[in-house]
Amino acid sequence: MNARFTSSSAAIELVGLTKRYAPGAKPAVDSINLRIASGSYCCLLGPSGCGKSTTLRMVAGHETVTEGDVLLENRNITDLPAAARGTAMMFQSFALFPHLSALDNVAFSLKMKGMAKDERLAQARSLLDRVAMGHLADRKPAELSGGQQQRVALARALITQPRVLLLDEPLSALDPFLRIQMRAELRRWQKELGLTFIHVTHSQEEAMALADTMVVMNHGVIEQSGSPHEVYNRPVNEFVARFMGGHNVIDTGAGKVGVRTDHIAVAPVAAGQEAGRAGPHAQWAVVSDVEYQGTYVLLGLQSPGLSHTAHSTAQWSVMLSESVFAAQPLKVGDVVRMSWLPEAEHPLAD
Ligand code: ADP
Ligand code: MG
Repeated sequence: MNARFTSSSAAIELVGLTKRYAPGAKPAVDSINLRIASGSYCCLLGPSGCGKSTTLRMVAGHETVTEGDVLLENRNITDLPAAARGTAMMFQSFALFPHLSALDNVAFSLKMKGMAKDERLAQARSLLDRVAMGHLADRKPAELSGGQQQRVALARALITQPRVLLLDEPLSALDPFLRIQMRAELRRWQKELGLTFIHVTHSQEEAMALADTMVVMNHGVIEQSGSPHEVYNRPVNEFVARFMGGHNVIDTGAGKVGVRTDHIAVAPVAAGQEAGRAGPHAQWAVVSDVEYQGTYVLLGLQSPGLSHTAHSTAQWSVMLSESVFAAQPLKVGDVVRMSWLPEAEHPLAD
């Protein structure tokens, strides 16, 4: 354990945390360092297989650690059993026992601990009251709506009085409408309870909606962590820019820069006009796709084959507000000049 970190007030701290599933194998999680502030909502985000669940399971104590440490409020919990850590886990689709009532689902882990029936039911009832589910305590999961099931699952996780709640893709099996409702509710409960949540998701939209801090992972390492605003507006490298979406990655010849799709202006040009130089922060292109999205229109554009291309980037996307587009509609095949302000460019590391 690294002495440098012992005075921190982070809820969870990962220090050089590594997981290899087989000796000599490529690590699934490769020496990651992360501090998660107490009382914050942290999302671990990244493509499938990048090591999110492995990281979460090592925090939970459901997976052994190959190297490094997990600290909870400065206590080294790396080698503690799951039940002794001060963490609790909420699983995909809530994983409630279908044959048990809401009350018995919530009381279940206390029963496993051998707590007397009256006492465990009283504790479970008080937690169900806390999540406004006391009046439905006797219902089975199938008799509850998705939102009510989520509250029961939350109460069940909270009964062990965890300091940190761990959630592995809790919303991914829900239909899109319910998913958005449920994520708003998770966020509300997290603030109300003042607990630290660590939520694994592969959806950047979900992470941006929920997180105080989002941690973007790829191939077992952390590519970037920061507020959703920081990560979206200043992706540090091409991977983060492409994974977050909403950016063009432009090869300037002297390195790569990112420019947001809504920071590019598009003006139609007469045939033949694209023979000249478009300018340093501009590019000729042909509209290849027009997608109406309601409040905005998403244009796909292509630049290869046009003369005087300042940039070797071939595929572009530009987001125009509906009113801007309506003032000057474009169609597939139109030739345009795209331009952006120099300050719209931000450098991307390799
Ligand atoms: P994510 O949750 O980001 O999709 P995982 O943490 O589940 O990713 O997996 C990370 C890597 O570790 C993947 O390459 C996966 O195949 C591998 N992996 C996960 N669990 C096991 C396991 N129990 N045994 C061997 N390899 C595993
Ligand atoms: Mg996973």
